[in-house]
Amino acid sequence: MAQLSDDCFAFGGPLMTLEAARDLLAERLTAVTGVERAALGDALGRVLAEDVVSPVSVPPHDNSAVDGYAVRFGDLSPDGDTVLPIAGRIAAGDGAGAVDPEGTAVRIFTGAPMPAGFDTVMMQEDCREEPGPGVLGSGLGSVLIRPGIKRGANLRKAGEDVGAGSVILTAGRRLRPQDVGLLAAVGSTGAAVRAPLRVAVISTGNELAEPGSPLAPGAIYDANRFILSALVRNMGARVTDFGILRDNPVELRSALENAAKSHDLIVTTGGVSTGEEDHVKGAVEASGGLHFWRLAIKPGRPVALGQVRSVPFVGLPGNPVAAMVTFFCIARPLIQRLSGEAVTEPALFQVRADFDYKKKEGRREFVRVCLARDAGGVPVATKFPRDGAGILSSMVGSDGLVVLSEDITRLERGSMVAYMPFSEVL
Ligand code: AMP
Ligand code: MG
Repeated sequence: MAQLSDDCFAFGGPLMTLEAARDLLAERLTAVTGVERAALGDALGRVLAEDVVSPVSVPPHDNSAVDGYAVRFGDLSPDGDTVLPIAGRIAAGDGAGAVDPEGTAVRIFTGAPMPAGFDTVMMQEDCREEPGPGVLGSGLGSVLIRPGIKRGANLRKAGEDVGAGSVILTAGRRLRPQDVGLLAAVGSTGAAVRAPLRVAVISTGNELAEPGSPLAPGAIYDANRFILSALVRNMGARVTDFGILRDNPVELRSALENAAKSHDLIVTTGGVSTGEEDHVKGAVEASGGLHFWRLAIKPGRPVALGQVRSVPFVGLPGNPVAAMVTFFCIARPLIQRLSGEAVTEPALFQVRADFDYKKKEGRREFVRVCLARDAGGVPVATKFPRDGAGILSSMVGSDGLVVLSEDITRLERGSMVAYMPFSEVL
């Protein structure tokens, strides 16, 4: 298993752009998970540990793309009908059989191997079968073929999908249904994949109550732990729920050190805003090292990155929306790297803004929006009316985020903006 350097999160500057943050993660983090084998049935969502090279060609043999008649192009009259006696019949799953004489056609079906020497297939809809003698003794009759077909029509060449010896999937890919299918199509029974990242998820704060328990004066229910656990699990990691920890340095430190014994990553929320009640800071500093990344984004407070013993630690802000946005921006690529997954940039789509907006220069803002379409079918983003970092229902009530880059200071209704659907990061 790879080890990270002790100061892999060190950063000297004041305000950090997202680009700089991503570059630091890229430079300093490697996969920390081991490699295991997953059978095809368990491979969905797993991260490939190695490139996969196909041992075979797909398809393994030239075959017909349609139901029809295989012919030799050279036997066809270029400008008139051609009548050819039918020499044989090949269905999918049959062998290609014996070599048939020149000047004949072969009845063939989709997926059936092409008989040797034949190079073109006529669709059955474009032919007419005629009673006749066929090839001596075959009892199959003849077929009338109209002119105009191209050489090689309706023929699928051996290896046109996958060439033997070619790389079909590269290390770092999270396997999708079609990827698992391609493994099967080349005859693999499974693949070498990364062991799931083991992630400890912790909520911190004296005000937090467990859902289901009575709410004491001044308390709120813990929402973040369930959001973060779900986000992390959604990325293929294995989550251990460490519950709610009080703002107590001794309790925090012992829980963090305990989590470090058997996890690859510790994720906390709350207690890192650098106020005097923010005790996570001291606890992590005492057991490893801590750095605050003051990201130039909104919403999002500083994100704390550090190590407990040698285990990476990410402290996200307590406000639920800020916790989610910083998760998308920092924790997500960080988890991808530690998991051995290739980092995927969320795709942004151009949509029309249905709102005016003013913002500070130099920071990136994420605006919660709903997406609809105007009469012409152009997607239009409407801003969610309430935008505090603590308004969790805004994340439920919107479809995604409009991403306003650092250089923008005002947005006029009607202009085109970059939109990231939540599906890009969930
Ligand atoms: P903090 O980052 O600890 O200063 O918390 C900022 C705000 O987020 C405070 O209003 C907290 O009550 C709230 N908060 C912190 N943790 C959670 C949580 N787990 N679930 C919901 N709200 C939280
Ligand atoms: Mg707090």
